[in-house]
Amino acid sequence: MELLTGCLEPQSLLILALLRVTLGARSQSMDKISSFQVDHLRLKPGLYVSRKDKFADVTLTTFDLRFKEPNREPVMDQPALHTIEHLGATFLRSHKEWSPKVVYFGPMGCRTGFYLIVEGNYNSMDVIPLLVEMFDWVEKFTGDIPGAAPAECGNWRDQNIDMAKWECQRYAAYLRNPKKEHLEYPSSMV
Ligand SMILES: [Zn+2]
Repeated sequence: MELLTGCLEPQSLLILALLRVTLGARSQSMDKISSFQVDHLRLKPGLYVSRKDKFADVTLTTFDLRFKEPNREPVMDQPALHTIEHLGATFLRSHKEWSPKVVYFGPMGCRTGFYLIVEGNYNSMDVIPLLVEMFDWVEKFTGDIPGAAPAECGNWRDQNIDMAKWECQRYAAYLRNPKKEHLEYPSSMV
């Protein structure tokens, strides 16, 4: 860019300078992202819409599958979290109706839940049947965990199918009998 500035009009140089100042300021003071603005001290286990992102005419809905009360109960153990990730992703990406809309399924770093991102504008109730079906499938699952092989996973031995089933059934109970307090962030929290 420095090489190019020699042939630009003074007005263009001014615009470039302003652009550099603006971009510099943005990189120094980043906004707090929306998921950090949820009051985790009041958050209960449940299924929440974390965000909706619009890209031209496409909307992506991100669901917060919150398995644990943040900071108030033990988090999931890492191997169970990993097994739920493998099984959940396999189920969702094989589902007849939903697989074309599934963008991502994966664990939160804090180990209190998962994110599911789907193409489309949805609310929590829309995906409850899908998730209940998924957790029932996990409960009945037998055999080798998909992707748990050294060529297919970065830590393939790190699995716990029994705890994965236990965590999924415990969480699914919130979905089988959905109550508003487990489906919507309180309005003051976001
Ligand atoms: Zn893995």
